[in-house]
Amino acid sequence: MIKQTTTVQEVVELLNDLTKRDREGMETLVNTRVSVEAPIADHSTVQVMVHKADDGRTLYLIGALGLLNGLFGVDESTGMGAIAAVFGVQCPKCGSDDNDGRVVGDNCSDCGEALVLGKLQGFALTNVAPLVFDDDDIEDIWAMEDDNGGDDLYLLTCRDRGLIGGDTISIVSIGDYDGNYTVVNVSPATDGFVRITLRLL
Ligand SMILES: [Zn+2]
Repeated sequence: MIKQTTTVQEVVELLNDLTKRDREGMETLVNTRVSVEAPIADHSTVQVMVHKADDGRTLYLIGALGLLNGLFGVDESTGMGAIAAVFGVQCPKCGSDDNDGRVVGDNCSDCGEALVLGKLQGFALTNVAPLVFDDDDIEDIWAMEDDNGGDDLYLLTCRDRGLIGGDTISIVSIGDYDGNYTVVNVSPATDGFVRITLRLL
């Protein structure tokens, strides 16, 4: 069956499915860009990287994600497209990528070196995903029986990041549970963790 329409959530799910099948291949795809002419860079929704070459020329570079983002418009306040690639961090000195919530420029927990961008982890919606959880943040997640007959409610035990009802989060690197969710409610658990009811977006 050929689909005539799609949603941004479906595109993110497809990208995350492909990342599970071949993470390195998808990382190469996301990092591969070709040079295009200025009229494409001027397009109102397609995302193009502007790069100054060593010889002073301006290059316009487009990749698969910039093209897909062209389908879904631009956030007026940030200038960003709807879909973001999510990368972890890595230590350039000791190679550690187990860095527990640290971001680029923070110090490695093992050797103190400044961290750089690491491996592709997956894809998330930019406009509904202020927080991204990966398997370091999550203790437990499982599907709940929904009283209303639906099957889209989940119970998550995770680090307390100050979430409240109505927030949205992205989960990456948890396999079957990867996706974007709305926070329904939050209750305290133990040791800095909370128990959160989620609804799949
Ligand atoms: Zn290190």
